[in-house]
Amino acid sequence: MARTPVIAGNWKMYKTIAEAKEFLVELIPQVKECEARVYIAVPYTALAPLAEQAHGSNVVIGAQNMNDASEGAYTGEIAAAMLVEAGAKFVILGHSERRHVFGEDDAFVNRKVRRALDEGLQPIVCVGETLKERSRNQTEEILRSQIEGSLAGVTAKEMSKVILAYEPVWAIGTGKTATPKTAQESHQFIRQLVAELWNEEVAEEIVIQYGGSVKPDNVRKLMNQPDVDGALVGGASLSVESFREIVNFSMSEV
Ligand code: PEP
Repeated sequence: MARTPVIAGNWKMYKTIAEAKEFLVELIPQVKECEARVYIAVPYTALAPLAEQAHGSNVVIGAQNMNDASEGAYTGEIAAAMLVEAGAKFVILGHSERRHVFGEDDAFVNRKVRRALDEGLQPIVCVGETLKERSRNQTEEILRSQIEGSLAGVTAKEMSKVILAYEPVWAIGTGKTATPKTAQESHQFIRQLVAELWNEEVAEEIVIQYGGSVKPDNVRKLMNQPDVDGALVGGASLSVESFREIVNFSMSEV
């Protein structure tokens, strides 16, 4: 079956509300014919204005993180219900910067996934090995433990709402993209693992994005791999020109 590709931008801690609005004004008309689904994970402050601006277009606005609690005395944190109220449709969870810079573990990511699903937010769950783990041939072991841990207790029905993002840590923000062959090997492993942990149908339907230095000049070859269904794009999503090219190139043949 054909999976609809999802290209998601991750703006990280970039763009004021004014800059974000200007970006969207330019982007919307340039991606309106695109067959891929276009997502942008924006800073919290830009969520509500951008969700309103994107309404009626094919651009979907979401968040980059959230807390697992429904509410409480957690200074500086944000709850899923607040994201939903602001217009977010999806949330990135378990990004490597959250795991490695802020020390988030699979159990925490798992509680966030549970909360996101309960509140009607689509989770994009990130997994990926470090360079050290890859050099020790531990890639599959790491992917297995991250997927088992982050998605524990998620039912097959709920998995239809989940997107997985394979993001090798050594490729994020480094300019070192995984080769299409390396990406395909990991994506194929992830899809087989999803079949083992849930079932074949879930594995066939789930969108698995690749993330790690995706640019206009490498997106086509990556997207041409049978198990690569989209991209999670950091740096190259910050300029309208490169993000628009990635979105549109992703659908063309090599
Ligand atoms: C990311 O932030 O998820 C990412 C993949 O960043 P970059 O595209 O800059 O490597």
